Amino acid sequence: MARLNDNYLKLKAGYLFPEISRRVNAFCEASPEGKARLIRCGIGDVTEPLPPVAIAALRGAAEELGSRATFRGYGPEQGYPFLREAIAHGDYQARGVEVHASEIFVSDGSKCDCGNILDILGPDNRTAIPDPVYPVYADTNVMAGRTGAMTDSGACEGLFYLEGNAANGFVPPPPAGEKLDVAYLCFPNNPTGAVATRAQLQAWVDYALANDTLLLFDAAYEAYVQDPALPRSIYEIPGARGCAIEFRSFSKNGGFTGVRCAFTVVPAGLTAAAADGSRVPLHGLWGRRMSTKFNGVSYVVQRAAEALYTEAGRAQTAALVRHYMDNAAILRQALGQAGLTVFGGENAPYVWASTPGGVPSWDFFDRMLREANVVITPGAGFGRAGEGWFRVSAFNSRENVLEVAKRIAELRP
Ligand code: PLP
Repeated sequence: MARLNDNYLKLKAGYLFPEISRRVNAFCEASPEGKARLIRCGIGDVTEPLPPVAIAALRGAAEELGSRATFRGYGPEQGYPFLREAIAHGDYQARGVEVHASEIFVSDGSKCDCGNILDILGPDNRTAIPDPVYPVYADTNVMAGRTGAMTDSGACEGLFYLEGNAANGFVPPPPAGEKLDVAYLCFPNNPTGAVATRAQLQAWVDYALANDTLLLFDAAYEAYVQDPALPRSIYEIPGARGCAIEFRSFSKNGGFTGVRCAFTVVPAGLTAAAADGSRVPLHGLWGRRMSTKFNGVSYVVQRAAEALYTEAGRAQTAALVRHYMDNAAILRQALGQAGLTVFGGENAPYVWASTPGGVPSWDFFDRMLREANVVITPGAGFGRAGEGWFRVSAFNSRENVLEVAKRIAELRP
């Protein structure tokens, strides 16, 4: 008898986005007029075409594969040196941050990396997850059997929640008097758009070093940080190389959500404890994991990612980010003028707003769908602390964003 992984049965039936699709599809079937007017600001997927440098690099690399002299088969599992060097230099060393090419592991997505990292971590870690946050951290811990049951509200027994709220600006501090083994952090945050200041991140690094906590820092949206005083990498914080892994992605800066390319940084000296108490470098374990369960990102895609680091590539990705950030400013203003409390949208492509009168976020989702024909993301889908809030994604065309702003202004009070 084949037994299944019972941990999957603990998951809430609908992951957030399938449940949104279910409701949107039901609405579209019931209302053809509503369907025709529908604007999706729900899923955080990019809408604008790839930068021209990436297209040219994809074409050039595809041509290379068409000739015996330049054909390439399996590449190095950790990524081609040309891309790892470009990342180490462009994202870190040029900004005065110490990260070496050998510490970079290229992958096909941060979603996979955030989940796969559990392969090299023990089953009994006391793990903290921000609330609200990208649901993948909690769900992958459930799947890997690192939690107890999931309650109706979506909380998992066995996980420690770091509550973000209006009072702390959605940047939860390290918990006083609590000892954590692993803590996920996500800045700029999905869904709130909050970004930790240097002092706030330093507090986390100090806590991690004092408590032997491993920080899993998800910087998928770092390119959206506009304020030069705000950190874009955990490694800008002294001490972070001794306590943090960083996840980054080309999905949101280069528009690679469909192309698929990301990377994880595991500093050479970063260790965790083995069962016998000895300290073992995580770099070697992650390398072993990747070379056993992964065969690398395609050559053409890595060439496209490399192209983003050229001068033209930088200008083109900056223009993409500018486009979405201008959208975010329009949405922020519209939601603020509607009398809602608004966070995010200044250093992140997400605007986070309170529901009118504090109504439950799924009720407001349904109302926006029915009355404005706009798809938003209910805050409750990102954790209990997201209840009473909703996320609007700035990943859209300008035309759609202006129309959404107009419809928000027209909503009945
Ligand atoms: N991390 C966060 C916080 C995200 O919001 C997302 C995607 O929305 C990802 C990671 C996934 O990135 P990728 O497309 O590289 O898998």
